Amino acid sequence: MFVNIHTHNIHQEGIEIQNLMPSLDIKLNAEHLYSIGIHPWYANAESYAQELEQLAHLAALPQVKAIGEIGMDRVRGESLDFQSMVFRQQIEIAYQYKKPIIVHVVHYLDELIAIKKDYAKHTEAWVLHAFQGNKQSMQQLCRQGFVLSFGYEALQKNKTIEAFREIALDSFFLETDNSAIPIEKVYEKAAQIKNISQPDLQKIQMNNYMSYFS
Ligand SMILES: [Zn+2]
Repeated sequence: MFVNIHTHNIHQEGIEIQNLMPSLDIKLNAEHLYSIGIHPWYANAESYAQELEQLAHLAALPQVKAIGEIGMDRVRGESLDFQSMVFRQQIEIAYQYKKPIIVHVVHYLDELIAIKKDYAKHTEAWVLHAFQGNKQSMQQLCRQGFVLSFGYEALQKNKTIEAFREIALDSFFLETDNSAIPIEKVYEKAAQIKNISQPDLQKIQMNNYMSYFS
């Protein structure tokens, strides 16, 4: 059984958390699992207040397993001030409903670590998705209590392969995000790098899911 902690598509294999944006006409299937949040690319002054209100309603639902993806992106989106304000408000919602968060951060790692320190009260998992950094950055984030999620593309990069090889077994997830490469392939690559069997990797991922998401 595979755990796919972050995807934008439905594949219906094992446990998968599908990511959506909050909206008035959102349709959730009671059988599926979701993360819902205002993506930093799309956070804007016109719509964020209403989306936050919608998110606060959706966050109460049991099939909404996490708030996300939320965060800050230096390459795309509004100013850091605005993005971090919307990010913080969504962390408050996650705190209120005791949900983990799925974090999207590009080139704002120091800012992210500072914000996590501000929200020490939010003790659910902070899963940084699409991690593509090196071993030093992995160690720094794990020391701060982050859980890292890796996709297929990241596991092709030498520096991230090294980080993945070293990361503690209870500190990572695997994901497909919006890639067409199936989760099986991500597991294959991950098991090979970690030098563990498929069944062991599946057990490890299931344990991580149970401990951070239920
Ligand atoms: Zn994504």
